[in-house]
Amino acid sequence: MPIDTGEVPPDKSDFDVIVVGGGPGGSAAAAYNSLNGCKVLLIEKGVWPRDKVCGDAVGGKSLSHVEELGVLPMIQATPYYQVDSILFGSANGSEVRVMLPKDSYEEKGLMSGYALPRVQFDYMMFKRASEIVKENGGSVIQGFTVKEVLSKGSGPSSRITGVTGKFGGGRSDNPMMTFSSTVTIGAGGYNCPVSRKITELYDEPHKDDHHFCGGYREYWENVDGLEGSEGQIEIHFIDEVLPGYFWLFPVKEGVVNVGIGMLISEQRKQKGMKKSLKKIQKWVIEEHPRFSGRFKDAKLVEGSEKGWQLPFGSPRKEAPSFQPRRGAMAGAMTVGDAASLVDPFSGEGIGNALLSGKLTSLHFDKGRHSEGFTQEDAERYMVDLWNELGGELSNSKKLQSMMKWKRLTNWFVNKASKKEEIGTMMSEMIASKETQKSLWSPWFLFKTLVLP
Ligand SMILES: Cc1cc2nc3c(=O)[nH]c(=O)nc-3n(C[C@H](O)[C@H](O)[C@H](O)COP(=O)(O)OP(=O)(O)OC[C@H]3O[C@@H](n4cnc5c(N)ncnc54)[C@H](O)[C@@H]3O)c2cc1C
Repeated sequence: MPIDTGEVPPDKSDFDVIVVGGGPGGSAAAAYNSLNGCKVLLIEKGVWPRDKVCGDAVGGKSLSHVEELGVLPMIQATPYYQVDSILFGSANGSEVRVMLPKDSYEEKGLMSGYALPRVQFDYMMFKRASEIVKENGGSVIQGFTVKEVLSKGSGPSSRITGVTGKFGGGRSDNPMMTFSSTVTIGAGGYNCPVSRKITELYDEPHKDDHHFCGGYREYWENVDGLEGSEGQIEIHFIDEVLPGYFWLFPVKEGVVNVGIGMLISEQRKQKGMKKSLKKIQKWVIEEHPRFSGRFKDAKLVEGSEKGWQLPFGSPRKEAPSFQPRRGAMAGAMTVGDAASLVDPFSGEGIGNALLSGKLTSLHFDKGRHSEGFTQEDAERYMVDLWNELGGELSNSKKLQSMMKWKRLTNWFVNKASKKEEIGTMMSEMIASKETQKSLWSPWFLFKTLVLP
């Protein structure tokens, strides 16, 4: 069903907060800032319901936000896949199944994670956000593309003041409209115009092939071994895909999201078939000795073949200012993919998009910032965001680098499949930041991996 977003505000209207992009990060930012008493304008260039290329796995981190914003009942009322474990497979065929820790959400019908097509998840997030924004005096527009992010001043001493754009995208004859705000939140994904504007003004890098990952996805029906509506999702580090990985994530009964991800810097080094993620995936599905049989009676969902990029939150070696990159300035903050926050090991970005969306509302107060959202305010936001996520993103970067080494992956998965303690460690690692920290302690590693 379409979402009715109501009346379009007049040209040159003024808001406390403008949010560019209505994915999970933008929907969360718009909803939380509205709940804080702000007059918000939420802008989305797509028209709902719209697809988003993704693995569709929604990790445990997102659940508190989904619940706080009142989206949980909607999710429970739609078809989804209940994830109870992750199966890791290595190049030599060893496999280990890691059970996800069960927490309080189990009682409510969702455990640590679930998977459902983004066309469904994003629809529910945007619908609820639109209700909250409008209840609090704000506006929502869809089908409107932000073309330009407005600023006053020059270079790093500028201030973002609002946006200009139009309905219908590039070729339409619709008139340009301008909206202004005290703070503009960039939530437009990996190529967000707000995050591009911020890095341009500071003359700092935006895209970085060593930290951006290419991803390719298809939906398949009837894949052998993944038939029900509850069970495992699978991540395979197979020879032909390394240094990338191949995933099989069921999203509801009978439908599986199948895809491949690889760092763009690694992809550039590949030759022949391995240059194209689509071609590698075709080969794995049709010819790989372990997977082709599982696709024997499966059917591709036509039109589902799409690629996209994942901006990782891995720490940059020589970041010119903030980690993972500059993501805020006077008059602006960014969230989710626009702030480059995707986990570099698991590829998860929805949880961090929701978390950063909420964090903007803790850093912006329309009373306190009546004179403007300053450069110092922006720096506090960036420091806080990295304090919150930097530890786990750095750990995930280490894991990502390890998985590039075939022998190491083979050895680790083989060991884990035989030693229960490693499975428990991996399961806790997914749930607990403390366990993630201890993972890098030499004694912990020696004890768990080397001792019999
Ligand atoms: C192949 C692949 C697999 C992935 N798998 C997973 C997974 O299994 N689990 C997980 O948690 N994450 C996964 N991710 C990452 C996840 O998709 C993102 O981290 C997440 O979508 C980030 O949400 P966001 O709201 O920041 O951005 P997005 O979801 O990208 O939303 C941005 C929105 O902004 C809109 N927009 C863009 N430009 C403009 C403009 N100029 N004007 C107006 N609107 C604009 C877009 O239309 C879009 O709706 C995957 C990503 C890829 C590519």
